[in-house]
Amino acid sequence: MRYDVIIIGAGPGGIFSAYELTKLNPQLKVAVFEAGHCLEKRFCPIDGDKIKSCISCKSCSIMSGFGGAGAFSDGKYNITNDFGGTLYEYIGKKQALDLMKYVDDINMHYGGEGTKLYTTAGTKFKTLCIQNDLHLLDASVRHLGTDINYIVLGNLYNHLKDKVDFYFDTMVETVCTAENGYEVKTAQESYFCKDCVISVGRIGSKWMEKVCGEMNIPTKSNRVDIGVRVELPAAVFAHLTDELYESKIVYRTETYGDKVRTFCMNPKGAVVNENTNGIITVNGHSYEDPEKQTDNTNFALLVAKHFSEPFKDSNGYGESIARLSNMLGGGVIVQRFGDLIRGRRSTPDRMKDSFMTPTLNATPGDLSLVLPKRILDGIIEMIYALDKVAPGTANDDTLLYGVEVKFYNMEVEVNEQLETKYDGLYIIGDGSGITHSLSHASASGVHVARNIINKQ
Ligand SMILES: Cc1cc2nc3c(=O)[nH]c(=O)nc-3n(C[C@H](O)[C@H](O)[C@H](O)COP(=O)(O)OP(=O)(O)OC[C@H]3O[C@@H](n4cnc5c(N)ncnc54)[C@H](O)[C@@H]3O)c2cc1C
Repeated sequence: MRYDVIIIGAGPGGIFSAYELTKLNPQLKVAVFEAGHCLEKRFCPIDGDKIKSCISCKSCSIMSGFGGAGAFSDGKYNITNDFGGTLYEYIGKKQALDLMKYVDDINMHYGGEGTKLYTTAGTKFKTLCIQNDLHLLDASVRHLGTDINYIVLGNLYNHLKDKVDFYFDTMVETVCTAENGYEVKTAQESYFCKDCVISVGRIGSKWMEKVCGEMNIPTKSNRVDIGVRVELPAAVFAHLTDELYESKIVYRTETYGDKVRTFCMNPKGAVVNENTNGIITVNGHSYEDPEKQTDNTNFALLVAKHFSEPFKDSNGYGESIARLSNMLGGGVIVQRFGDLIRGRRSTPDRMKDSFMTPTLNATPGDLSLVLPKRILDGIIEMIYALDKVAPGTANDDTLLYGVEVKFYNMEVEVNEQLETKYDGLYIIGDGSGITHSLSHASASGVHVARNIINKQ
């Protein structure tokens, strides 16, 4: 079977490549291969009742399938160059922002209309933060919410399904050069194409490394972010979240000079498990629909770790810490802040006594036995710093879930077209190590599609 373009991975990067390719040239023969299920078959069995925690499904529906890792995400599209990836380093700041706005227009057209666009521009919180040595990053945030995000994805699929051949539940095993392009091999068959776009996301990190090794595509080690997910009563952060929805706040610790940042804020949301290559970590999401909202807000506090010489395996380091929490807690551990600073574990009884109702069923335990001192000290310092702009953050009952790890793929060597040293072989989205967000990954998909069309 021969195609003009084969896209590997149907996350935001792959979807927006397919969208733009078929828009610019409807005659193009395009196929999308996706290891996970189609959208309507994606289902996480955790129901909080019969199945309380991750049972390591063969294909994790949270991370894989049409919509990629973004399908059950909070659908927060951060339109900014300040975080979410370094796409701007390849294509320029203006173009990166223009592409993110273009993606936002498409999302609005396909069901997102009426959702709120928040912005940090001119907010009084910037001053409040700086007065307390906290730094609020600039961004516009489109919040689709998990429910509307799902509707947008469904509409995009309906738009694409007759224009593109989708192969779901079809893992690509290898990619190699062939006459006039590339051979894409699955367990059953080989497919051929002129241009190949690889957009395998974070779940495809190990596979991506293997392909880069086989094809001698240079890569370099990226960082890993390690920390906890904080959950507290929504009222504590309401003044910030009502106006900004998501506030990305950075703090430099006094003890070590490390930067700790807030990440992925979910007002009135829920804490969820995340399964990356069999390791259970924690994440969060929230809904636009008031019926599905909770009384709690959650966000991550993360510390970035880079390694250079002689140790380079940042992800391996993060994985080991996450494994330790899985070993002690059988999954994710939860601890009250009051217990952590008193040097004692949280127990089921202490949790029952708490005024907070956790939204994730995690094992009460002791995060100080899991997180390295330097990281934990930084998180504690940041909680006290946040308490000054959002009093109540450092309350005894504030819950810390651990561990939250943000793995970044090895950064692959690509040019400003996101093309590898092989003509017509592109690597985009989170799988490239260049993007780490819905908006950047989607923008990289549009960028690559336009480059492919321009070269024809
Ligand atoms: C719970 C959760 C919440 C999140 N919330 C947000 C948020 O609110 N805002 C935000 O900006 N970001 C969020 N993110 C991150 C965001 O989802 C990712 O940055 C984004 O999805 C990256 O898009 P991508 O297309 O590069 O990769 P992905 O979305 O990861 O998609 C890659 C796809 O490739 C498939 N694949 C992998 N290997 C192969 C193979 N060999 N063959 C075939 N298919 C393969 C995978 O199954 C997957 O479906 C969240 C992530 C999670 C897990």
